[in-house]
Amino acid sequence: MTKLTISDLDLKGKRVFIRVDFNVPLKDAAVTDDTRIRETLPTLRLAIEKGGRLVLASHLGRPKGPDAKYSLKPAAKKLEELLGKPIAFGLDCIGPGVEGQSKALRDGEVLVLENVRFHPEEEKNDEAFSKQLAALCDGIFVCDAFGSAHRAHASVVGITHFVQQAAAGLLMEKELSYLGRAVTDPARPFVAILGGAKVSDKIEVVENLMKIADAMLIGGGMAYTFLKADGQPIGKSLVEDDKIDLARRLREEARQKKFALLLPVDHVVGAEFKADTATQTVSTSATPDGWMGLDIGPKTIDTYKQKIAGAKTIVWNGPMGVFENPAFARGTLEIAKAVAAATTSGATSIVGGGDSVAAVHQSGVADKISHMSTGGGASLEFLAGRKLPGVEALTNK
Ligand code: AMP
Repeated sequence: MTKLTISDLDLKGKRVFIRVDFNVPLKDAAVTDDTRIRETLPTLRLAIEKGGRLVLASHLGRPKGPDAKYSLKPAAKKLEELLGKPIAFGLDCIGPGVEGQSKALRDGEVLVLENVRFHPEEEKNDEAFSKQLAALCDGIFVCDAFGSAHRAHASVVGITHFVQQAAAGLLMEKELSYLGRAVTDPARPFVAILGGAKVSDKIEVVENLMKIADAMLIGGGMAYTFLKADGQPIGKSLVEDDKIDLARRLREEARQKKFALLLPVDHVVGAEFKADTATQTVSTSATPDGWMGLDIGPKTIDTYKQKIAGAKTIVWNGPMGVFENPAFARGTLEIAKAVAAATTSGATSIVGGGDSVAAVHQSGVADKISHMSTGGGASLEFLAGRKLPGVEALTNK
């Protein structure tokens, strides 16, 4: 790690501004999944142990200005439960009111600010707003919001210009260490598994990982743009016609480099995109007209499983089919189990993206995965070889 981390900081008696990711799902003003809050607990406990005075900031949803529906109050309440101590809640995230609240903190106490996105300046990375955020701490900023690190927003990037030390939190450090090792020094063979609906979201990841990985297994809706580029029939399957040339170029590049870019050889097709539609399992070369591919088939599952079993590094992002529907979930759940089994045999596995993470939980193998990434978008940008502004902005050691 070339960046300062929270372990390097002296926090005793100081107000530290910690950017967390408390962008949690809510129902009736209660948190329905507290995973993201739990993930930051190690950082928060360490900051408390060090005698810091914690000022926590996060975004939640996409409010257009102040809106009680997007208040961070339920998240603060949940944190109170998890930490087992009372927590102060901010009147806002900037201004004299919260400045006063931050100054009233004693060592080890916690203040959760109101949603930073109640101010449009947050997403504009506005300088004056960043400065007002920085006024809530004593020159120390910790970023533990990996899921927001790909966004140059005020509470992630702007604030770093107005503090003396900007450090990574423990969660951020863990994410960077797993993903960093995968792209710079992976144990081999390195197998990447990519799925999900859209090829355009992941095309740069395909391009970059073709330079780094030893094999790539493609499934889900994104496979059909590649299959169409190969001249295969795809029926009514999802396709991005404006990406076919690019897909063809990548297939050609893979052929020349003898890179194992694997596509489904069979699939489960449905007559319609709905729950109880008629289905059949066919070779991809025999896709009937008017049907759409909604899951990878048994032969593909076997081939992918063999590749996964031999891997020493596995990165997986995106489901192999419409796994929300049990009729098209098998491919994704089998891949989850295969990734878990390979991990038990010594591979390092990194799973990112909400759907793949959900599939791993659904398969009951979450505890076997080496690392489940909390930031789908950020991890994809990292794997695409891009620099994350929220990481770049941290202080070098
Ligand atoms: P993404 O957000 O791009 O990772 O896509 C996730 C979504 O892709 C999930 O909701 C899946 O249901 C959907 N998906 C996966 N495979 C297919 C497919 N073959 N056709 C249509 N949608 C799919």
